[in-house]
Amino acid sequence: MFGFLKKIFKRKIREVAKSVTKKILEKKLSEKDLEEILGDLEISLLEADVAFEVSEKIKENLKKELVGKSVKRGRVKQIVLKTFKDTLLEILNLPKLDLVKFIKKSKKPVLILFLGFNGSGKTTSLAKVGYFLQKKGFSCVFAAGDSFRAASIEQLEEHGKRLGIKVIKHRYGADSAAVIFDAKKHAETRKIDVVLADTAGRTHVDRNLMEELKKVCRVNKPDLKVLVIDSLVGNDAIPQAKMFNEAVGVDAVMFTKIDINEKGGCILSVAHTIKKPILFLGTGQDYKSLKVFDAQEFIKKII
Ligand code: GDP
Ligand code: GDP
Repeated sequence: MFGFLKKIFKRKIREVAKSVTKKILEKKLSEKDLEEILGDLEISLLEADVAFEVSEKIKENLKKELVGKSVKRGRVKQIVLKTFKDTLLEILNLPKLDLVKFIKKSKKPVLILFLGFNGSGKTTSLAKVGYFLQKKGFSCVFAAGDSFRAASIEQLEEHGKRLGIKVIKHRYGADSAAVIFDAKKHAETRKIDVVLADTAGRTHVDRNLMEELKKVCRVNKPDLKVLVIDSLVGNDAIPQAKMFNEAVGVDAVMFTKIDINEKGGCILSVAHTIKKPILFLGTGQDYKSLKVFDAQEFIKKII
């Protein structure tokens, strides 16, 4: 997990510290010196799916810390390392969202809508979150709001059967907004705490589908819209996040397939782009493979 990103950070921090130390021995560091030193930092970070703006920010912060200063030789590596860390902390200093607390204090039923591209892991993540919430003592119902993709209703029903969670569904091609509306009504009558609603996978070219998603939100007023992003898509995560955020407003994000992703830079990129809380990381195919996101832990893993 994040091995590639870690390797790049480690190597770059060492390289930058070494070159800076060398320059400082000659004279006070100028902006130009640093430009040279930080030249290929950008490329390496891009390779790890860290967005251009994020690596720019790291560069800018390093410049602020180092240009024109007479730093003691032995302190350079410490400063570079600390600047990297602080920059990442700043990027990951997102609004906090504790799902359990949020549900506790909200009026029931709480409607959580899962959005994202096809294959991003929406349905799987929804089931994992259902399992997570059950363990925390909440009752749940699933809404089969993806009434379009072949087999998606069956997939959700299979999860429901395994977890003992009821699935509210209509036929294929049914109005997604109506399915979710029914699930909410069901939850209200039965005093169920949380409705977890699936939606069809969509991209920006699916204009009708984006309209459908807007309708789902208009009709059902979800308490949380959770964007599910496949971490393997790398820098494509940025336009995805922007698109969903502009269309309906994203309240929180989760990243999937972290178990098979060595890079993880897209977490930083999306955090920097839409600045929304990160709820979970999906780390495998079974229900237990769901980690509550912790920025400190993430930074510890990569630096
Ligand atoms: P959807 O189209 O967005 O609903 O995506 P699915 O939930 O059907 O997931 C697509 C594929 O990704 C399935 O094969 C899932 O088992 C797999 N998947 C989802 N989340 C994870 C994860 O965190 N790790 C791994 N390795 N696979 C995942
Ligand atoms: P394509 O013909 O396979 O490219 O599919 P399109 O995205 O053009 O969709 C064709 C029609 O099906 C459009 O009117 C869409 O609104 C509708 N459609 C596509 N996906 C969904 C979905 O997930 N749910 C519903 N209810 N309609 C959909």
